[in-house]
Amino acid sequence: MRRRLLDLLACPSCHHFPLKLVVETEEEVEGLPSIPEKPLCEKWCAYAESKPKDPALCFECMKKDIISGKLICENCGAEYMIEAGVPRMLKPGVDKS
Ligand SMILES: [Zn+2]
Ligand SMILES: [Zn+2]
Repeated sequence: MRRRLLDLLACPSCHHFPLKLVVETEEEVEGLPSIPEKPLCEKWCAYAESKPKDPALCFECMKKDIISGKLICENCGAEYMIEAGVPRMLKPGVDKS
């Protein structure tokens, strides 16, 4: 997943926004267009960890692919693992197995 996604994801459990990102491994994405004129993120820039304002910083939100890590909700304490580049946004305690 890209950091750009953090601009769109809220906690499935309590709807807190934004989530905190902890990166374990990430890869640079090849073949992207150049730095845009405006920030890509709208409400929250996960790379700058602030409101989006700097297009050059925000470009990093598309440039790196996060392979593993986790997303943490600082409101309810829920943690969502990122595995093989995909965030597992399941409500805690909901186990379908
Ligand atoms: Zn951004
Ligand atoms: Zn939450």
